[in-house]
Amino acid sequence: MCGVFGAFSRDGRPVLEDIYLGLFALQHRGQESAGLSWIEGGVARSIKGMGLVHNAISQGMVSSIPARAAIGHVRYSTCGDSILQNAQPLTINYAKGPVAIAHNGNLTNSGGIMRYLEDRGAIFQSTSDTEVILHLMAHQSHKMPLDALMDALRRIRGAFSLVVLLEDRLIAARDPWGFRPLIMGERDGVVYFSSESCALDMVGARPVRDVEPGEVIVVDRSSVSSLRIPVKPRRGFLCSFEFVYFARPDSVIDGISVYDARKNLGRRLAKRCPVKADLVAGMPDSGTVAALGYAEEARCPFEMAIVRNRYVGRTFIQPTQRVREAGVKVKLNPNPSVLSGKEVVVIDDSIVRGTTASRVVNLMRSAGASKVHLRIASPPVRFPCYYGIDTPSSEELAAARFDLDQLTEEVGADSLAYITQEDLLNAIGAPEGRLCTACFSGEYMEDDANGIDL
Ligand code: AMP
Ligand code: SF4
Repeated sequence: MCGVFGAFSRDGRPVLEDIYLGLFALQHRGQESAGLSWIEGGVARSIKGMGLVHNAISQGMVSSIPARAAIGHVRYSTCGDSILQNAQPLTINYAKGPVAIAHNGNLTNSGGIMRYLEDRGAIFQSTSDTEVILHLMAHQSHKMPLDALMDALRRIRGAFSLVVLLEDRLIAARDPWGFRPLIMGERDGVVYFSSESCALDMVGARPVRDVEPGEVIVVDRSSVSSLRIPVKPRRGFLCSFEFVYFARPDSVIDGISVYDARKNLGRRLAKRCPVKADLVAGMPDSGTVAALGYAEEARCPFEMAIVRNRYVGRTFIQPTQRVREAGVKVKLNPNPSVLSGKEVVVIDDSIVRGTTASRVVNLMRSAGASKVHLRIASPPVRFPCYYGIDTPSSEELAAARFDLDQLTEEVGADSLAYITQEDLLNAIGAPEGRLCTACFSGEYMEDDANGIDL
């Protein structure tokens, strides 16, 4: 998962500092690397680095560059290694001019395209699937850059929310399935695009509308125009996990408030699998909003039973299992004054490998809880994601390895229950046939090979 942000100033005002601020608000979408790009003197330039935005990019440097258009990216690798070479935006200065691109999502046909292009002499600089788009453009060097980009977009499949910078234009594109969010905003003659609306709030921009699935929006000095990728998907695939876990609760995706969706998930959990308890606790921060919904529905008090060290990042982000296990210990501390002698129901958004769940149940018992009931605000994650979220293979997914009774024992809870897929869809409330549930249901998109003629 990654975050993208772009800005184009109609009146020439510098925008790089806005990109920097926008990336700050998208930091939860990726902590491995960050970067921004702009075009200066006909050449695409970048500042990129590993780690968090403030480590990767010098704010002082950014403020002194007078670029009127720029894009930025925060990366959490799901395709390609975690190295600086793969940090985005990616840039090229090819026969038809400079291009910078930032991508959120995973392409499902990049392997085949890469082999095809390598057979014809292309040399890839990174192991990221995003580079495929630049090579497809360069392969069409007889076309103008925007036409070459449109041509590339019609050949790729899978998840892509993109911001692209050409010599005199900013372009935002969203795949025809609408996997990842992408929203347009505006403030005082500056047009913005962002993975999430929370970053528009950060720069004081008003949300204008979501980029539609299959839409390409082109911004230049005099106009904002909308084009279509000529690919007809069978149905939509907006990632339901964005509502469950990834997006910030203060974001609105395709008109749906993430906060409301999460609270609904908690309410449905309380209705679907109620349990007698003295208090409700949320796994901070991922389970907090669902826990509020659960507590409201169950009429049971919500307490801060687990306190989070706010200076430690998301544990899952750390690459190795060893680091991940240590990460949970330093991140979460149970609160004995709340838990001692109490029956508690703990809400988390999801169980992936099961590390967090078993650790937290243990911690709660050691802090004096008499019973620990675990309630999960999403259906069991049984299948890997191929669309830009780092879920492990089925062999590592706790819900694929164990049935419910085994898993309850494995994590050491007195009881464990999940919401159903039907509840998930109803809680989010998107139109029918719009949401992706592949990691829960195994129903992947079937349009992969459709119409790719290289
Ligand atoms: P685990 O300990 O492997 O079961 O991870 C579960 C925790 O990681 C949950 O509490 C989620 O908040 C979080 N999580 C779920 N899916 C992901 C993901 N794909 N990337 C990062 N964190 C995740
Ligand atoms: Fe989101 Fe799951 Fe679909 Fe991946 S498989 S896009 S995580 S809903």
